[in-house]
Amino acid sequence: MIDRTFTIIKPNAVADGNTGKILDMIIAAGFRVIGLKLTCMDRNQAQKFYAIHRDRPFFGELVDFMTSGPVVVGLLEKEHAVADLRRLVGATDPAKAEPGTIRNLFARSVTKNAIHASDSDENARCEWSQFFTEEEIITADYRG
Ligand code: UDP
Ligand code: MG
Repeated sequence: MIDRTFTIIKPNAVADGNTGKILDMIIAAGFRVIGLKLTCMDRNQAQKFYAIHRDRPFFGELVDFMTSGPVVVGLLEKEHAVADLRRLVGATDPAKAEPGTIRNLFARSVTKNAIHASDSDENARCEWSQFFTEEEIITADYRG
């Protein structure tokens, strides 16, 4: 069963020039990229995307950060995509992220932790549909 998951390479990682390295790690781990774009989130988008956290003390800082510069959003396909990407990304707090994970390598802080990865199939669908229309998703079989 091939599943989908959704990722955001966050503003710190894009600004640090790490987009290519992170995409390399994702592709080397066996994910197929079926949607990809560079975009800037506005405050409405960021507040909606992180609505589940709106009552948390870090929400304002998180929205400020996510709107501070361009992000790269991606739709990925793989067996066990959600769980496997979460493992590759590592713990939310980079100090607790396993060596070799994306957050261990590229995060600057708990907030500026380099990358988002969906935490369930249902949330993945909700999240990618905020950034990709059906027409933008590459469903043709291609190698890459
Ligand atoms: N975050 C934060 N402070 C915290 C916890 C989370 O700034 O104490 C930010 C961080 O960027 C994280 C995002 O909020 O990635 C969403 O938090 P969540 O707990 O969902 O972590 P994730 O699923 O991204 O690992
Ligand atoms: Mg989360």
